[in-house]
Amino acid sequence: MVRTRFAPSPTGYLHIGGLRTALYAYLFAKKRGGKFILRIEDTDQGRYVDGAVDIIYRTLKDAGLDYDEGPDVGGAYGPYMQSQRKDIYMKYAKQLIDSGDAYYCFCTKERLEQIHKDGAVKYDKHCLHIPREEAERRIAAGEPYVIRQNIPESGKDTYTDLVFGEISVDYKELEDNVLIKSDGMPTYNFANVVDDYLMDIDYVIRGVEYLSSTPKYNLLYRAFGWRLPNYIHLQPIMRDERHKLSKRDGDASYEDFIKKGYLKEAIVNYIALLGWSSKDDTEKFTLKELEAAFDLDGLSKSPSVFDENKMKWLNSLYIRELDEDKFHEMALPFYKEVKYLKGYDLRFLSSLLHSRCEVLTDVGRLTEFLTKFDDFDLEQFVNKKWKTDRALALKMIPSLKEAVKADDLSAALEKIAEDGGYKKGQVLWIFRIGITGAAVTPGGASEMARLLGKDECIKRLSQCEKRLSE
Ligand code: GLU
Repeated sequence: MVRTRFAPSPTGYLHIGGLRTALYAYLFAKKRGGKFILRIEDTDQGRYVDGAVDIIYRTLKDAGLDYDEGPDVGGAYGPYMQSQRKDIYMKYAKQLIDSGDAYYCFCTKERLEQIHKDGAVKYDKHCLHIPREEAERRIAAGEPYVIRQNIPESGKDTYTDLVFGEISVDYKELEDNVLIKSDGMPTYNFANVVDDYLMDIDYVIRGVEYLSSTPKYNLLYRAFGWRLPNYIHLQPIMRDERHKLSKRDGDASYEDFIKKGYLKEAIVNYIALLGWSSKDDTEKFTLKELEAAFDLDGLSKSPSVFDENKMKWLNSLYIRELDEDKFHEMALPFYKEVKYLKGYDLRFLSSLLHSRCEVLTDVGRLTEFLTKFDDFDLEQFVNKKWKTDRALALKMIPSLKEAVKADDLSAALEKIAEDGGYKKGQVLWIFRIGITGAAVTPGGASEMARLLGKDECIKRLSQCEKRLSE
């Protein structure tokens, strides 16, 4: 049975890059009828952020990436929170000490700084030769220590990554990294191996930054006599050609995009394409469709650039697919953010905005004209196609005010055209500018009139009349 895992460190919001790793691990498992596991890597207590674990649970569930096992849902391989597995790591670290694959190290921070100042690029194995009894005596006496991996001084490791192919690294390029820190917690370098093995993970899917450290992990697997997992390393997502999209870019988290009016389906769809493409270049996929289509061949060997316009385009497709009630329900919280929309018929507004929104926050952008009426540019009345101008507007406005009062606005506007010998387009242009002050509105003249209501239309037309005659 295929088992994959997502192993985030709870350091804040779930970044788009992290969510993509989770998505690929989820898809890979689902396609093969396997299990997707969530493991929280919270052993770096200095980086721990309060509430971050809940954000991870919430985001994965909201995005539809339901995990089969995890800290909050349980499972047969727990605990799934690394901070609760301290004893397990210690037990295995001791096993490595017994086999000579790890050793106790008592070097002080000052000494480590000094050897680096003296030009060392990596730890000099200074403590490797301390006899076991002496080390144990020092530990018993309370001396702080760490446990380091004993990397061979020569030789190399070669393994196959399922995206990058064969990777070879000389051991001499690797350092005797710390496996257990002085606080008794494991480092990532150790915990990932112990956990992936004990949790029976057979496909390790993670960021490319771990590609070159993987030989160290392979040494550990071998020291324990464990089989190696399959590795799938993923290229990063870039903000532009040179910079990685980073947490520091602010709005690159799942929740930020939700706040910006993206639909979760569109976010998931878009991030699936950031590093993977389908054989036939289809771009629109539901999560279910992705589960069927996702394959390793489609994974990219080069970084992908995050393109918000493309995500917007996808989002607009998902918005179009909503039925109108659903659109309205989803738009409601966004209307609430726009103070000046208070009092308008929002249900009617939804019918106008549904086909025009790319993101739900567009309900603000598309109705902005409503607050800009008082000082809109009167030159808007000038329209070459319809041969309208300010003078014609001033002349027509009194009859437009009358027309608003009529039961059938359309007929009344048509009558103005007939009586005055105008084209209908001329009347509609002047009327729409006269009540909205905007050349582009989410709907035609009669829809705008309905949105504003008779009284407001008359008030606005009078206001124009006054400004035009000043
Ligand atoms: N905790 C690691 C991270 O957040 C996980 C890497 C992995 O998937 O193994 O980068």
